[in-house]
Amino acid sequence: MKYPISTRSASLTPSLTLAIDAKAKALKAEGQDVVGFGAGEPDFDTPQHIKDAAVAALAAGFTKYTPSSGTPELRQAVADKFKRDNGLEYKSSQIIISCGGKHSCFNVIFATCQEGDEVIIPAPYWLSYPEMVKLAGAQPVILPTTDKTEFKITPAQLRAAITPRTRLLVFNSPSNPTGSVYTPEEAKAIGEVCIEKGVLIMSDEIYEHLLYDGARHQSMASFSRAHYEHTVIVHGLAKAWSMTGWRIGFLAAPQPIANAIDAVQSHSTSNPTSFAQKGAVAALNGPQDHLKPWMAEFDKRRQYAWDRLNKIPGLSCVNSKGAFYLFPNISGTGLKSTDFCARLLEQEKVAAVPGIAFGADDYIRLSYATSLANIEKGLDRIEKFCKGR
Ligand code: GLU
Repeated sequence: MKYPISTRSASLTPSLTLAIDAKAKALKAEGQDVVGFGAGEPDFDTPQHIKDAAVAALAAGFTKYTPSSGTPELRQAVADKFKRDNGLEYKSSQIIISCGGKHSCFNVIFATCQEGDEVIIPAPYWLSYPEMVKLAGAQPVILPTTDKTEFKITPAQLRAAITPRTRLLVFNSPSNPTGSVYTPEEAKAIGEVCIEKGVLIMSDEIYEHLLYDGARHQSMASFSRAHYEHTVIVHGLAKAWSMTGWRIGFLAAPQPIANAIDAVQSHSTSNPTSFAQKGAVAALNGPQDHLKPWMAEFDKRRQYAWDRLNKIPGLSCVNSKGAFYLFPNISGTGLKSTDFCARLLEQEKVAAVPGIAFGADDYIRLSYATSLANIEKGLDRIEKFCKGR
């Protein structure tokens, strides 16, 4: 039988971050001494009170369908979070709870874009954005940047890329994969171009709490009423609460967009897992004191890794100001990123993600969401690999 595969799904590249993480985990399970810098997954456990809330929900029989866009309690907890952290007023009807931040992004793109539309994505980008755009039948328009500008686009660059077909700008600060953070002034100016041109912004703010060196995050929706009306914020619990496997993401949108996403989700996943939503309520409404020690630990790792990377022949790296990624430039090694990462894994058993997956072939991504001991071992091996070339 000739199996039908849609043109849209055939055009996709499977997620390399997940593939590399799976490969590193499989090699480890075989007993190989692999150092994984692959997936952006904090190595801390989910805080106990969050787990307790989900266990209690299960024990109490909270195991049935919830409203497809999330429980009223969790939607309100998210609205309260936006008020508390970002000074933003959302009605709970403007909040949609989804199965992870990735699913929130997918819903926004799917509900707003179609054939003939263009979506502007600054590179290096998180690798799933362009694939989601293609799945929606729209066209990704990539705006390249380099480490010379800390991987940030300028308002002029954005303005020049906007056409009458532009529907959406994907904006992500703090950034996965580079760790760069736009200042509030820079972000505001990017938003102003979108307002002037009538372009919606999908602002992925999942790393908002992970900041270093005094970097400041201000939500794209918070600069003015017009910014609010032109922005959908996507977010989730995976990173700052270490809940990657729970699959709870959320978004805040102007009401007509929330209504469209509500319809899309009601026909795709229905509700996110009932008892995971109870855990999410505990995460958002409960104490936030887990984050301070985590950030101190991330910061130590970041400084150590950044310092080491810049001493390795052939590599140079701007320091990360947010999230938990470093994005070293490898062009001095004479290798492109796929080759670099394949050889590094084969020769030194170190897993890193090739920059080409993020639209930047002269770089690799290292996640420092792993122990300092692992980072030391991994960097010793990267050094050996580069010196041996
Ligand atoms: N967002 C994380 C990363 O970039 C998780 C993997 C994924 O979903 O791509 O590593």
